[in-house]
Amino acid sequence: MAARTKSKYHFALAIHGGAGTLPRAQMQPQREARYRTGLERALRAGYDVLHTGGSSIDAVTAAVVVLEDDPLFNAGRGAVLNEAGAHELDASIMDGATLRAGAVAAARRIRNPVLAARAVMEKSPHVMLAGAGADAFARKKGLELVTPDYFTTRQRLVSLELALLRKRGRLSSKATAAEKHGTVGAVALDSVGNLAAATSTGGFTNKMAGRVGDTSIIGAGTYANNETCAVSGTGDGEFFIRGVLGHNVSARMRYLHESVSAAARAALAEVAALGGLGGLIAVDRRGRIAMPFTTEGMYRGHVLGNGKVVVSIFR
Ligand code: ASP
Repeated sequence: MAARTKSKYHFALAIHGGAGTLPRAQMQPQREARYRTGLERALRAGYDVLHTGGSSIDAVTAAVVVLEDDPLFNAGRGAVLNEAGAHELDASIMDGATLRAGAVAAARRIRNPVLAARAVMEKSPHVMLAGAGADAFARKKGLELVTPDYFTTRQRLVSLELALLRKRGRLSSKATAAEKHGTVGAVALDSVGNLAAATSTGGFTNKMAGRVGDTSIIGAGTYANNETCAVSGTGDGEFFIRGVLGHNVSARMRYLHESVSAAARAALAEVAALGGLGGLIAVDRRGRIAMPFTTEGMYRGHVLGNGKVVVSIFR
């Protein structure tokens, strides 16, 4: 992003590629470089929107689409498989200026679930559509549908096989975070002060058919409110739902007057106390960013108005 002219806009964008990183010891340099490149591409896509005066909702959409298209991440292409060997995709988006929101759950054919979530927000009277209804709605709105094998990668097939062996007691090793988690998300503040958040996932490997996680649930995996912050989470979805993670960060800021980083840490600690691990990214209305996590790592990055892209994986 070096050669760009300095922006006159004040904005902020943060993204994550999931709290399910490989253990540091197993992360080979080449693989790490691929993750970093993927994150940088997503940041650049969002930055290009914000830098030219575009909206935060367009920026988070653009960043998440790039991550959904990247087979390394557990969303869109590269999504994990459920116990039936199928992909069921969850995504949501929220506009902090209007508190409008949209989501899809357990979608099977939509190439970019975040685009469908956005279409639900903008072109339907509803907040969430699930299953075949979500696929049919996306088709009706002109979004690209694919055959489910488009989403499948070798790595996810291996993860499912390992999970099934464990279930049958034929493998004693525990699943790594990389086998379990993943998810992508983005939060942004644009130059006119609007906040937005979006999240997209395949869920986790070997989940039950029909299971829906926090990623589709507004207030849990995704939340945005211009009064406070925009949040996107990744981790043990059931606990994020029970801890109402995204809204909790916002509520702590609003009612306890905590900073975004204090609120994000406290909300994540509440989820950890229930037994759930993971992380989140959040940005407040002044562009301050928080990215706490309770796992070994979280693929993450941010870019501000100066165009400097920062990407990290571990602590
Ligand atoms: N939160 C996602 C879910 O439960 C998974 C993850 O972020 O790792 O579906």
